[in-house]
Amino acid sequence: MMCAAVAGLRGRRVLLLDHADAPGKKILISGGGRCNFTNLHAAPDRFLSTNPHFAVSALARYTPADFLDLVERHRIAWHEKTLGQLFCDGSARQIVALLLAECARGGVELALGHPITGIDHCDARFRISFGARIVEAPALVVATGGPSIPKLGATGFAYDLARRFGLKVVEPRPALVPLTLSRDEALFHALSGVSTEVVAAAGKASFREAALFTHRGLSGPAILQVSSYWRPGEPVDVDFLPRSKPGWLREAKREAPRAGLKTVVARQLPDRLAEALVERMGLNGELANLPDRKLEEAERRLSQWRFRPNGTEGFAKAEVTVGGIATQGLSSRTMEARKVPGLYAVGEAVDVTGWLGGYNFQWAWASAAAAAEAL
Ligand SMILES: Cc1cc2nc3c(=O)[nH]c(=O)nc-3n(C[C@H](O)[C@H](O)[C@H](O)COP(=O)(O)OP(=O)(O)OC[C@H]3O[C@@H](n4cnc5c(N)ncnc54)[C@H](O)[C@@H]3O)c2cc1C
Repeated sequence: MMCAAVAGLRGRRVLLLDHADAPGKKILISGGGRCNFTNLHAAPDRFLSTNPHFAVSALARYTPADFLDLVERHRIAWHEKTLGQLFCDGSARQIVALLLAECARGGVELALGHPITGIDHCDARFRISFGARIVEAPALVVATGGPSIPKLGATGFAYDLARRFGLKVVEPRPALVPLTLSRDEALFHALSGVSTEVVAAAGKASFREAALFTHRGLSGPAILQVSSYWRPGEPVDVDFLPRSKPGWLREAKREAPRAGLKTVVARQLPDRLAEALVERMGLNGELANLPDRKLEEAERRLSQWRFRPNGTEGFAKAEVTVGGIATQGLSSRTMEARKVPGLYAVGEAVDVTGWLGGYNFQWAWASAAAAAEAL
């Protein structure tokens, strides 16, 4: 919709095809129904891609301020929630309405609810069949997203199309997705619903936000963030006490030797979580009876608790996809396929994935604007 609107406003004749019966379904469910439509800190280092430089140009030319300007022109009230995340005060419907209004201003024709049954490319023109119609155009922009949340109509269409035109696809993986724990870590399943602020780390990435235990494993913003970096077989390390200073348990022992370890840990963590962690460490009892060496070990474990997820909740629950159409085949200025003039790819279909917090929409807007300016 963004690409269609900008191209339409530049005087291009645009047909927007979507097999869904309504536009912007992911926008409607985004940000808990309020759409986290951008992030003030949308710098390229907050995106994952095989080529981390690919997003630089588009993000620099269409910034969060540009989208915010559009939001304000449409008189949509908004607020910053946390960490630069901008949300609608009202509803995500307002963002869909904004995009539809921009499409209307640009004279874009919408054709919804028909599967695309054929795409041919001949004499520098694309011929698309859908429903009972066949249309031709000198340019085709693939903006069909990634396969996360198939029940909303998400498909791997972009990848199939890209491969057909000789573009490479970086293996897609579910990202911003809850991680699952095995039966060995079953104790934690009993903590379903418990949440606390942590620093979670996978590989070289770490995030300080809330983590949430679920009946299947781990979720919450910190875990969703690291899930994009996590690879099967790797551990996820969680610091349950990011605020405490080294030596805090020995200090607690000096101050209140008769206090139980569980009680002391529960001062900083939800009761059920403190209980489960102390039980797992097998270190119950009064602090006075625990040697300093053991307390140091407990501190270390609590600040680097190692989980070994056995998987993720998959594309059914993933907010986005890591991977996608390989950037090496696309121009970072225009999103056009280097070897197929007239073919463009934008948004989540491309191997650029943002952190949680409005970054993925900002990439969708920026890459769409970059393509539209070149059409
Ligand atoms: C639950 C959830 C919450 C999210 N919240 C946020 C948030 O608050 N902030 C944020 O930045 N990001 C959020 N995201 C991610 C964000 O929604 C996506 O990154 C973004 O929508 C990608 O835009 P896109 O236009 O590339 O793809 P999409 O929005 O997925 O749009 C692709 C369109 O292509 C259509 N399509 C797919 N296959 C075909 C086909 N075969 N033929 C024809 N049409 C097809 C689809 O129907 C769809 O309308 C969230 C995602 C989910 C799932």
